[in-house]
Amino acid sequence: MSEEIEKVKCLIIGSGPAGYTAAIYAARANMEPVLYQGMQPGGQLTTTNEVENFPGYEDGVTGPEMMMQLEAQAKRFDTDVRNGWVTKVDFSGPVHKVWIEDKKEIHADTVIISTGASAKYLGLDSEQHYLEAGGGVSACAVCDGFFYRGQETVIVGAGDSACEEAHYLSNICTKVTMLVRRDEFRASKIMAERVKNTTNIEILFNTETDEVLGENDLVTGVRVKNNQTGETKEIPCTGFFVAIGHNPNTEIFKDYINLDEAGYIEYAEPGTAKTNVPGVFVSGDAADKTYRQAITAAGTGCMAALEAERYLAAKGH
Ligand code: NDP
Repeated sequence: MSEEIEKVKCLIIGSGPAGYTAAIYAARANMEPVLYQGMQPGGQLTTTNEVENFPGYEDGVTGPEMMMQLEAQAKRFDTDVRNGWVTKVDFSGPVHKVWIEDKKEIHADTVIISTGASAKYLGLDSEQHYLEAGGGVSACAVCDGFFYRGQETVIVGAGDSACEEAHYLSNICTKVTMLVRRDEFRASKIMAERVKNTTNIEILFNTETDEVLGENDLVTGVRVKNNQTGETKEIPCTGFFVAIGHNPNTEIFKDYINLDEAGYIEYAEPGTAKTNVPGVFVSGDAADKTYRQAITAAGTGCMAALEAERYLAAKGH
């Protein structure tokens, strides 16, 4: 049974840079936003050590620290930041219905979806160990590649992301070894060709990761296995990058919101934050498989809040 239904003007789902930026703009526009933090308060940046590419932080900032600051900034303008996650929505009618943990029901005039995406990992214990230790495992070359400048890195994956990230790393690192599990790329021909033509990228086909190796919580190499011959070998490296795709956190919206074949939310009009449901907007990685940066997420969070404000104004709220 539902508790009493709560009515809100602006409900923000998610607490990454997109959600908090939307909250800052919505709160300053007197929309009294309510923000649910979701399963991972602070989002993907809480698993990043150092953020050096967000403008305004001259000396860099840790991911968790930046998210605490964004939360504090949103609260400063009286955003109602709550623990909890959305388990169900019903966007079929003029009222946008949202349920928190299958219990609490909220009716929102506007909804801003900022649920982000989660990087896929291989799932090896050693990979997770060095990821949690912050010792050399990363799912974002653009974010973390710089920490391995002048060093050797390994990247796993064969899609466009892996190719783009391998190429990015090749400009920073002395050598990049790319592990491709089949005998061909999934990436577009042009991206694959670019990687093949880069002299300091070595591609190992039919090759899978056996274990990430290290000492004192720091990665020192990777043991790989050729899945055709069974042969194993160790590759020295200080950084191990996983680029095997992302899962956008959009499952609960799929009955109402148009998604692309990979599950990313489709914008109803390019250059806006509108979804196919009037009054429901999207920001951040839930709709972005290309850039996936904190700064682009923040930018689209701003857009979503401005559009929500316009939507309410047009309705006479
Ligand atoms: P994809 O799903 O396209 O590719 C994932 C890759 O990871 C595949 O090559 C897959 O191998 C490999 N993989 C998956 N699981 C494992 C595993 N356990 N071990 C080893 N390898 C694994 O994801 P992307 O993130 O690359 O791209 C997502 C979408 O975004 C695509 O549509 C892509 O075109 C697009 N994109 C476009 C860009 C651009 O145009 N600039 C840049 C980045 C992304 P296998 O092939 O064997 O299945």
